[in-house]
Amino acid sequence: MSRSVRHAPAPVRANPAAGPRPRRVLCLCLWVLLLGTAPAWAADLAVSEVAPGVYLHQGAQEETAPGNAGHIANLGFIVGDARVAVIDTGGTYAQGLALRAAVRRVTDLPIAYVVLTHVHPDHVLGAAAFEPDGPEFIGHANLPDALARRGEFYRERAAADLGEAAAGTRVLVPQSVVTATRELDLGGRTLELRAHPTAHTNNDLSILDRASGTLWASDLLFVDRVPAIDGSLLGWLGVLDDLERGGARRLVPGHGPVPADWHAAIAAQRRYLQSIAAGVRAVLRRRGTLEEAVAEVGLDESGRWLLFDDYHRRNVTAAFVELEWE
Ligand SMILES: [Zn+2]
Repeated sequence: MSRSVRHAPAPVRANPAAGPRPRRVLCLCLWVLLLGTAPAWAADLAVSEVAPGVYLHQGAQEETAPGNAGHIANLGFIVGDARVAVIDTGGTYAQGLALRAAVRRVTDLPIAYVVLTHVHPDHVLGAAAFEPDGPEFIGHANLPDALARRGEFYRERAAADLGEAAAGTRVLVPQSVVTATRELDLGGRTLELRAHPTAHTNNDLSILDRASGTLWASDLLFVDRVPAIDGSLLGWLGVLDDLERGGARRLVPGHGPVPADWHAAIAAQRRYLQSIAAGVRAVLRRRGTLEEAVAEVGLDESGRWLLFDDYHRRNVTAAFVELEWE
């Protein structure tokens, strides 16, 4: 625990713009009366301290669905002596509010920064919940464009998938961007943000907490859950090498638990990506088709990853399109 962290639970600030709207409060009260429990989207967001002052909420290893209310990504915050940086904000406005309340259970220091690690909705759609704190919202230099192209689609899909749990969700575009690196001073603690070349997406940002040696890799590292290629297979392999050279003591993935041996976790992801590259190249060499590649490449990895059937074919398709012209 950082020496600056205050343990007394502090309420979320009494800003009417920040709290649940009356209809949602009424809805929640009825729900609790009828069922005796709060719905998933209104439940407290559990965090664990994975390093001194570094707090992680681990999302469910599932696709977004009403049962998990979109709580599927890893989110968290890092507490310095003077300020707090939030890292990712969840898949809905309600989850952003829950993360904000989790920060307030730990410290009443100001939330000065909200870092959005990449465009995917499970990481960014809760950002508006932090607006009352007036933080600097920060993302990769390519993030505003990616949000402009996809943000509204993501918001509509969250509303369709989650209904009331997605109430109030809207897209927030960061006003500050990182093109290479940037440091954030939390007071006695410096975070180093790094904008990566295209890998998981074309807008991946990682956060290194120098004080604890924690590298918040977000979706540059998937643990147990199959990685999803939305950027570049070959680029991602290169970025994995960069992460390994960074000398971190621990890595926080975007999905799954903090690995006891992060080198092994990177090795597993590298093996998966390399098996797709090798398989797709073999199909291309014999002038095979995309359909053939999807039907045969990388299937020996199927028992090793959660959600394999949901993403693997898409990954092979993305790899085929990328490697077709190399
Ligand atoms: Zn992602």
